Parts: sequence; structure tokens; C-alpha cells
Amino acid sequence: MIAEKTYLMPTTVNEALSMAKANIESFTYLAGGTDVMVNRFQGNEESPCLIDITKIDDLKGVKKEGDQLRIGALEILEELKNKKEIVDEFSMLIEAALSVGAPLLRKTATIGGNVLCENRCIFYNQSEWWRDSAGLCLKCDGDICIATQGKKACFSELVSDTAPALIAMDAEIELVDENGTSTMKLEDIYTGDGVIPRNLSETAILTAILLPLNRGFKTDYYKLRERESLEFTSLTSAVAMDQNGKLKIALSGVDPKAVVVEGTTDDDKEDLIKKAVKGARAIDNDMYSRKYRREMIGIFLKRSFEKLKI
Ligand SMILES: Cc1cc2nc3c(=O)[nH]c(=O)nc-3n(C[C@H](O)[C@H](O)[C@H](O)COP(=O)(O)OP(=O)(O)OC[C@H]3O[C@@H](n4cnc5c(N)ncnc54)[C@H](O)[C@@H]3O)c2cc1C
Repeated sequence: MIAEKTYLMPTTVNEALSMAKANIESFTYLAGGTDVMVNRFQGNEESPCLIDITKIDDLKGVKKEGDQLRIGALEILEELKNKKEIVDEFSMLIEAALSVGAPLLRKTATIGGNVLCENRCIFYNQSEWWRDSAGLCLKCDGDICIATQGKKACFSELVSDTAPALIAMDAEIELVDENGTSTMKLEDIYTGDGVIPRNLSETAILTAILLPLNRGFKTDYYKLRERESLEFTSLTSAVAMDQNGKLKIALSGVDPKAVVVEGTTDDDKEDLIKKAVKGARAIDNDMYSRKYRREMIGIFLKRSFEKLKI
């Protein structure tokens, strides 16, 4: 069945999955809607059927489960700072959440929607008439990447600010689809292809984010943006070190996927920085130049290493 401008509001995950299956290829899940609705206004998202998942109580709540902290996908970004379990062990997540957009937006936006928000590019996030006049790019059914003036790959960037913080702290995500429940490392959902940036099954619902407890994380977080008050990232850098000396760096804003570098506190710091810069396939599709953003990776990481005394 192809839905015509339908707005559905399931109250359970199973109900949502059935609705998704019945409207396959014509639906989009809607959480806070702060990403979906803007993309719809710009003509970049046109699904006739919206499945609003905000009434599904199973997707809410923060609780300890065994050796993991479970954060429901519908938890609101602004509220994370009020959750003791997150304050106690994962304060970098709060810092990241509070760096997203502006207060009004954070009071609606969910953590699930944040890690799944659409990739961005200054040649894509424009009105329809702007894109028509500039020429359609790969992400809008065109033949070439306009930003690189001809490449056959899309470099729209992952702009989630919470994703790097979560990845650096070894977060997993829990997904439910017709095949049941599965978990995977958060970084593994990002494909690196800007046209199809995530490799989730079509009906998959992100039910929770899972963070490992008792790792004694020490962390540092930076976001490069033009205005502190309201801006997508041009580079987000998150570094986490655990009590055993395991070190993990995660970046967003400089590649279609999260750039991840893993090591230990004994590793050569310049080598770690080189790996991070090499992994970042930034192009000139942002307010800041590619060169500047790549330079800032080294600056942010050096600051983090100094702050964490590694
Ligand atoms: C002015 C402005 C500024 C912004 N600034 C930032 C910023 O600084 N940093 C940043 O990271 N983002 C920013 N955003 C983007 C967006 O607001 C956030 O990423 C937000 O967290 C998205 O969450 P949401 O709940 O509103 O997601 P939605 O818009 O509801 O959904 C986003 C995507 O995730 C999917 N989705 C959501 N939840 C689930 C789920 N549980 N299971 C399966 N799929 C799901 C939706 O189908 C959609 O594809 C900004 C947006 C605007 C309009």
C-alpha cells in the first residue's frame, strides 16, 4: 500500500514496524522532527507517510542494565544533563548535546534523531530553486558532485555532535526491525557514502544507545562553528581515555562518516593526529575551508592530549 500524505502515531515498536512495512518506500520515522521537517521544507525529504514514534514509551528512559547504561532513543537532548547516571560517567555526552543547535531546538530534538540526522553540504541544504539553478548534485538525483566539480562520490558530511562523543566512549546502538533486535557499534552504521550515509534496514527503529559503565572515562570535546549560539558543526572532536589507557578519537563534520582513530595513551600523539587528518575526507562544502578544518583537527587533538595529560 502506498500512503498518501499519512500521519501515523504508533504506541509500540511492533505497531511502528507494521506501519513501516505497510508503507515501505514511502515513509519516514519522525522523532523530534527538527531535522526531518527542515529537510521537507527544502524539498529534500518527500515521504508521503510520516510515522511519529514519540508516543512509544519503550523508547524513553535512562537506566543501568548490567554493565551498560541504556539511553532510550527518544531522550531529549536538553534533558540529558538532568540524568545522574550520565552526569556521573558520561559528561562528554552532555557537553555534546548542549552544543547542538540552540535551546529551543534541544528541547525537542532526541538523541536517536541526532545520531541519525541527515548528512549536510552547502550545495545540498538549499531551497529547490537554488539547487535547480546550481545544478543537481549526486544527493539530489544529479550525476556529479557539484562541490568537487565533477567527482562521482558524495562528500556530504555527518554533522551529528553527539555521535563523536558517543563513539569515543564506545557506544553501541540497539535496533529493532522485522528480523528482531540487534546491537552494533555506533560507528558501524555510517557508510562513508554521502548519498546513503547509514546502512540500516529500511524499517529499523533505533531503540536505545548503550554505553559501557565503569570504564572511568576521562574526556575532552570541541566543536568548531561560526556562531556559538546556533550552528551546525564544521568539525566536532571528541577524545576519550579509559582507566586502562585505551584511547579513542572520533570526529564529525569532516567526512560523510565518523572519523575514528583508536590507540592507547602510550602511542605517539603525532601519529594519532596524522591518522585522524588522513581519515578526514573534508572538501570545500562548508562555511570554513577544507584546509582550515583539517588544520583544526590537529589543534583540537593537541589541546585534548594536553588537557588529558597524555
Ligand atoms: C537550525 C538548526 C540547527 C541545528 N544544529 C545542529 C547542531 O548543531 N548539531 C547537530 O548535531 N544537529 C543540529 N541540527 C539537526 C537536528 O536538529 C538534530 O540533529 C536533532 O538532534 C535531530 O533529532 P530529532 O529528534 O529532531 O530528529 P528527526 O528530525 O525526528 O529525525 C532525524 C532522522 O532520524 C530518523 N530517526 C529519528 N529517530 C529515529 C529512531 N528512533 N529510529 C529510527 N530512525 C529515527 C528520522 O527518520 C530522520 O531520518 C540542527 C537543526 C536545525 C534546524
